[in-house]
Amino acid sequence: MNFDEFQDVKRLLSEPKNIAIVTHRNPDGDAYGSSLALYLYLLKFNHKVTVVSPNDCPNFLKWLPEEDKVVIFEKHIENATKIIEKAEIIFTLDFNALHRVGEKMLKTLEKVKPIFVMIDHHQQPDNYAKFTYVDAEVSSTCQMLYQFMDNLDHLNYLDKDIATCLYTGIMTDTGSFRFPSTTSTTHNIVANLLEKGADNSKIYNQIHDVNTFNRLQLLSKALHNLTYLEEYHTAYITLSQNELNKFNFQKGDTEGFVNYALSLNNVIFAAIFIEDRKQEIVKISFRSVGDFSVNEFSRNHFNGGGHINAAGGKSNKSLKDTVIKFLDILTSYKRELKQS
Ligand code: 5GP
Ligand code: MN
Repeated sequence: MNFDEFQDVKRLLSEPKNIAIVTHRNPDGDAYGSSLALYLYLLKFNHKVTVVSPNDCPNFLKWLPEEDKVVIFEKHIENATKIIEKAEIIFTLDFNALHRVGEKMLKTLEKVKPIFVMIDHHQQPDNYAKFTYVDAEVSSTCQMLYQFMDNLDHLNYLDKDIATCLYTGIMTDTGSFRFPSTTSTTHNIVANLLEKGADNSKIYNQIHDVNTFNRLQLLSKALHNLTYLEEYHTAYITLSQNELNKFNFQKGDTEGFVNYALSLNNVIFAAIFIEDRKQEIVKISFRSVGDFSVNEFSRNHFNGGGHINAAGGKSNKSLKDTVIKFLDILTSYKRELKQS
């Protein structure tokens, strides 16, 4: 977005409007952090604002400021649909293709004609928004939102709650500031967020020190199921629905599991395949280190996408057949994976 466009958005927001903020299905820390930060910021200008999330967030995000104000589409379809229909402006945060809200909510979003504003950091954005503020090099949507506020000359509106939400998304999307997307700009922004009152230690603990006994047992199962393909520098994990059920799987329990596969010495490509019998899909997360693009891999073979080193995807085959397909595809990447 150029200077004039930022001024256009600033003008657009200078008078109270009906605004909906929408994020992707299975929201993570960056999705909820950016949505709630934007919500709190827009309230300061007397807009009528609602965050609509396709489904609920994991428990480890339930403490976020104003989390209880989020309207969950799949739980309150009628109310959520009304909010979307009434909105003059819809912000879409932390995704770049409308289908990522899920089938039902997509139908509603495709029917309405508000001014769409996309703020995101994924590669290859779709072209549905009037204002598209995207930079795939930036660590997180929360960092993008901070820069957005900066471009509107509105950093003075940052308060402790907004800083807490933004810090959460930057922390979770950078793997606590260790991924290559973490730059000096990220750290400068984070420093400002701490000055505004974000409590780094408390936020970390609220996200990470919430293991249940079942989750640790599920992790143990996942590690037991880890397969290492030495010649492909690849490792993957599978979890069947039965295994998830055995340990009373709760949303968010498998967060970060794929990183154990990636942490193996010599591994540059990692995947986790998680069976979801209710949705009749296998949900896949891909991770890589270096130049091997899991965004491309997932786009080409598993209906997904994301970033070079982190992407999601899905398969309509059974868990077993999905893994067979994966192994089959892998053979055509042998040279690329060997070289890396
Ligand atoms: P995760 O594996 O944690 O679900 O996703 C990794 C990254 O890829 C996240 O940034 C997520 O937003 C993105 N992502 C996950 N699934 C999809 C998808 O189906 N399409 C696209 N374009 N991005 C995805
Ligand atoms: Mn993100």
